[in-house]
Amino acid sequence: MDKFIIQTEAKRCLECKHKPCVYACPAHNNIPEYMSKIKQGLWEEARTIWHSTSNLPELCGSLCQNENMCEGACTLNKIHKPVKIGFIEKGVSELFKEIVDYPKDKINHRHLVIGLGPAGIANALKMAEYGYIVEAIDSNALLGGTVYNLVPDFRFDKSILNDIQHKFDRLGIKIRYNTYVGKDVLLKDLIHEYDTIFIADGLGLPSSVDIQVEHLKVYYAQDLLNKNIYSKKDLSAMLGDKIYIVGLGNVAIDMARTLRRLHKEVHIIYRRTIEDAPAGKSEIEAAINEGVTIHELIGPVSYKMKNKIKLLNCEKTCLVQSTTGGRGLVQRVPNSETYFQIDDLIFATGQKTSEVLFHDSGVVQTPEISPFATNYPHIFVGGDRINKNKRIVDAMVTGLTVANQIAKGSYETNH
Ligand SMILES: Cc1cc2nc3c(=O)[nH]c(=O)nc-3n(C[C@H](O)[C@H](O)[C@H](O)COP(=O)(O)OP(=O)(O)OC[C@H]3O[C@@H](n4cnc5c(N)ncnc54)[C@H](O)[C@@H]3O)c2cc1C
Ligand code: SF4
Repeated sequence: MDKFIIQTEAKRCLECKHKPCVYACPAHNNIPEYMSKIKQGLWEEARTIWHSTSNLPELCGSLCQNENMCEGACTLNKIHKPVKIGFIEKGVSELFKEIVDYPKDKINHRHLVIGLGPAGIANALKMAEYGYIVEAIDSNALLGGTVYNLVPDFRFDKSILNDIQHKFDRLGIKIRYNTYVGKDVLLKDLIHEYDTIFIADGLGLPSSVDIQVEHLKVYYAQDLLNKNIYSKKDLSAMLGDKIYIVGLGNVAIDMARTLRRLHKEVHIIYRRTIEDAPAGKSEIEAAINEGVTIHELIGPVSYKMKNKIKLLNCEKTCLVQSTTGGRGLVQRVPNSETYFQIDDLIFATGQKTSEVLFHDSGVVQTPEISPFATNYPHIFVGGDRINKNKRIVDAMVTGLTVANQIAKGSYETNH
């Protein structure tokens, strides 16, 4: 990306003293200071400022929903358009894609990372930069986690993951790919092999919703998005033409937009309102522009076959004020049933953790001590496994926090 274009955009920044963008960023990136350095053409200083709080600018710059975070809080929203912070972040990251910070001293301490999604990557890179001997294990054939496995190609240039892999190579981080902890190797055997372990295995299992399904196959968006990465042709052939998706988060939108690219008729049903949806506004707009129909305030009740026709029975819903504050509560509207004639039904209603990794290891999370803690002081957890907000930036923050905690020595090793 052209430095002149990046600088022109950075020059719009007012360097606000009260820093609303910084508070709205889960990583608390020092945006005004960063913009100031870019304006002056001090590119390396800009990179150093960013790197102190974020070591995945290439991922965050591409995939963060900035309108809900830093850009949403930008003072310039009141006058015109916010500073394009994500665009600048991505542009600067491209300038420095070859750069790693080599440690001054090597530390005789073996650290293992399990799971190389954003949390594990951030943690492994930071630990290696501190000088620790870092190894990693992932069940996939490449790093990136969900970003590699599920996020569709049209949203993200996956060659960025090769650049990250080169950083691992340069820092000497050894990775055991295609290795599933809990099956191919056991956590109970790894516990005593390493000085510290960071577990960031993400969310391995889909969550379903309460709906009566009578002898019909339903699909989970995660499985289909993963299939799409490897074989778009197979995905197209296994599904009918008219598809209904339940849910309105990132996963539902990615599923819907993927299916539109396979020329399917796609409908999303959501029991809340579009304004209330977890998916980003720009992603929802993109889906609508691409021909996806969104039905809000409607929930599924049953899915059955009648006279060789697949019928999805739904009920209208409404939102009532919660007595404890927060989001409105969903209530079904009595006698408001509608039937849709459909070909296939897909759930995109969230994911949950798989506990296979921990099986028989004696390791358990101890959130009452710290969100990152387990009953073994040298074993930590992070990423989507512990985060309320399931976003790349939040996953990265957990990886960095645990690395900083280990570097400060604020844990005990009694294994
Ligand atoms: C379709 C989709 C789209 C999304 N879009 C966005 C977006 O636009 N912006 C955004 O901010 N967030 C988005 N998210 C959320 C984001 O991807 C996650 O919050 C983030 O990837 C979580 O990172 P993580 O490191 O905790 O786990 P993950 O990225 O899930 O990585 C976990 C890794 O652990 C490995 N693993 C799991 N179990 C084992 C085991 N037993 N042994 C060895 N390895 C194991 C997995 O193979 C995987 O590589 C999206 C999520 C999905 C599903
Ligand atoms: S809020 Fe906007 S204008 Fe103010 S410092 Fe942040 S990016 Fe710059």
